Amino acid sequence: MDVKSNFRKSVLDLSPYAVSGHPAKIKLNQNESPFDIPAELKKEIIEEFSRISWNRYPEVFSTALPKRLSEIFDLPQESFIGANGSNELIYTAAISIVQDGTDVLIPQPTFYLFEKISRILGGNVIKVYADADLNFDVSKILEIARTMERGLIIIGSPNNPTGKSVSREFIVELLKSTGAIVLLDEAYIEFSEKPSAIDLVETHKNLVILKTFSKAFSLAGLRIGYLVAHPETTFEILKVKIPFTVNPLSEFTALKLLEHRDLFEERIKFLKQQRSMMMDKLSKLDGVKIIDSDSNFFLFSTPLPASKMFEELLERQSVLVRDVSSYPMLGNYLRVNAGSKEESDYFVDSVRECLRRS
Ligand code: PMP
Repeated sequence: MDVKSNFRKSVLDLSPYAVSGHPAKIKLNQNESPFDIPAELKKEIIEEFSRISWNRYPEVFSTALPKRLSEIFDLPQESFIGANGSNELIYTAAISIVQDGTDVLIPQPTFYLFEKISRILGGNVIKVYADADLNFDVSKILEIARTMERGLIIIGSPNNPTGKSVSREFIVELLKSTGAIVLLDEAYIEFSEKPSAIDLVETHKNLVILKTFSKAFSLAGLRIGYLVAHPETTFEILKVKIPFTVNPLSEFTALKLLEHRDLFEERIKFLKQQRSMMMDKLSKLDGVKIIDSDSNFFLFSTPLPASKMFEELLERQSVLVRDVSSYPMLGNYLRVNAGSKEESDYFVDSVRECLRRS
């Protein structure tokens, strides 16, 4: 029996999603926060959470988080959909929009999941490559967007893995020029010097924004993210959402963290300083090239091939970064995120040491 004959052709054509899981002392490969939730706050959360009944289903679609977010962002509660991380929402939004032959414009290089789900659904993926500085080619994107009466355009800003952002003016222009939905992934917006486009959902029904607690809010391990759009748009997207995926502990924790925004503001400021420090020091090493970033991570290349530097850092120094050299245009690049002071310093020393040895 050929079990494979049962699967969609678009699935058989895919390669598995893998993030290198090598254990390492210094882990700077997934753009996570180096700082956990403070122990007292964790304890308070667990204690309060233990009073909730665990035998009952939570709400089919969470309302507590949308309610709180609606107060913070001054938008209707119906504009928000919570989920088990924003990855889930990339799938949910794409499933509600993309079918066989739907045009999906995805500027490159970017987060691979965008292309993956579009291909699974049979979308016609249109790629526009960035310029030599890795900024998105905004005029080419607009040119294609103008021809799209429907479909999907997926923009990461700040973009993973380049760390580059697009301007608010470009987003507004894009929204006006196309009939397609613009999915704007703002997973790293808290680290950006540019403002979020969240307020634009009131006036632009074709804008869908994704946000997450995984990065700036230190909550990657609990899985919670959310989508923001005009209520008419979320109404359709919600129809395909898997019920009950917002874990009550994660939602409860997210709500608690929103009460401690000062703490995260401090952490964000600190991580931006660490990133700048890492970039400064690295750029002084012979032959090292860094790409300026608007996020908590950045790209760099060294005179060694990317795979060699990746291995040297891991095996000799126990430092884990992300090898992004298989992405288009990123031939010799590695990606690293800002860590604690000790981690960031150790990373820079490790690169220096690997180069010295080579
Ligand atoms: N979007 C981008 C651009 C990301 O880099 C990531 C995390 N790697 C995600 C979404 C997923 O985040 P979450 O943990 O909320 O699923």
